[in-house]
Amino acid sequence: MKVSVISTGSELLRGTTVNTNLAFLGQALTAAGFSIERGAIVPDSGRSMTEALANLVPVSDIIITTGGLGPTSDDITRQVVCEFFGLKLMEDPELRKKLEAHWLCLKRGHAPEALFSQAQVPENAVVLENRNGTAPGLWLNTQKNGCSKIIILLPGPPSELEPMFSEEVMPKLTAIAAERTFTEHFMVAGAAELMIQQQVEAVIGYLPVELAYCASAEGVRVFLTGPDRPLLKTKAAELKKLFGIAVLANDSLSLVEEVSFQLRSRKFTLSTAESCTGGMIAAAITDLAGSSDVFKGSIVAYSNEIKGKILGIPGEILIKHGAVSEECVAAMVDNVCARFDTDAGIAVSGIAGPGGATEDKPVGLVFIGVRVKELAEVRKFNFRGSRETVRNRAVANAFRMLRELLFRQ
Ligand code: AMP
Ligand code: MG
Repeated sequence: MKVSVISTGSELLRGTTVNTNLAFLGQALTAAGFSIERGAIVPDSGRSMTEALANLVPVSDIIITTGGLGPTSDDITRQVVCEFFGLKLMEDPELRKKLEAHWLCLKRGHAPEALFSQAQVPENAVVLENRNGTAPGLWLNTQKNGCSKIIILLPGPPSELEPMFSEEVMPKLTAIAAERTFTEHFMVAGAAELMIQQQVEAVIGYLPVELAYCASAEGVRVFLTGPDRPLLKTKAAELKKLFGIAVLANDSLSLVEEVSFQLRSRKFTLSTAESCTGGMIAAAITDLAGSSDVFKGSIVAYSNEIKGKILGIPGEILIKHGAVSEECVAAMVDNVCARFDTDAGIAVSGIAGPGGATEDKPVGLVFIGVRVKELAEVRKFNFRGSRETVRNRAVANAFRMLRELLFRQ
């Protein structure tokens, strides 16, 4: 079934509010086997909203609107939708009572009549309870030009939309979806998107499988979508075998989650010594609840003084090779493992930029060292991009290298 989303609200176009509702709906729908066919963002204008409906209703079975259900004069979604489908708006006495009771609790005197616009319900609509706000959501089974359409009106605030969608809408959608599409996905760590695409397309050929790729510093997530679930499973398994060890073991985990899982399952502990990443690796691992099982601690050794005094890097390494060198990073990872008494370690030193480059050490030059027991490795990278990109790539590659070394154990 084809789902389209119309996000209403002038603030979304001005950029004062980020359209997180679309991201939430995209993820929730994809996970449940639906895909969003189209998305439109429109200002709080009846004409724009009507145009979006006219464009999207013919190509969609289900339309979800977000926003514009509140009591203020710019909240016009109900009226516009009713006009478009030729439906009457009627007051729901139950909803009026609820709104009155809520207003009474606020002790703000007489309720303004505008409040009760939220009790207006299109004929035959199902009211979706809003446990986190006043404006209820609405579910409409209607028709346009002889075709059945489902229209779902959801409130704008994410704190209201998200629980309403998960609790009220998703169960209904799942139940009515006769012709579902399914999705299989997996993550290929550290791979280039184009290479992955070529290999995936060679396997999928002309089969009824839609392909999508999502590249990040960690790697490429590959999505296979289509109506034939067994076919998707077979092809996903075939592709995972093709990409081998680069595929994360658990389809829905991020790289850092998987590294933490792999360390935990071996009962290994980790410490880090970070220079140019300034603790980002430690932050990523401690973002995960329960990371104290595997993570002992980190030294952010930003200055040479601290690299020497606290991490014990010999002065001759720092003088002869410099802090951004294979020798220094090798010593950093060895020493942090020894000092923290951990099975595994990560060390990073590099030039994140924009300043700090020398003739032989350009911006983006990063050395990453990893150790797991007696196996150790240092690699040299030349990352391109801003300071933020260089540092994010360093973090992702550090986890990727540690993961590979864990598998070599
Ligand atoms: P509304 O229901 O249109 O009055 O929206 C109420 C509030 O919800 C807005 O002021 C925004 O802060 C927020 N909101 C509306 N639409 C979105 C959206 N698509 N994503 C995130 N927040 C939103
Ligand atoms: Mg609005």
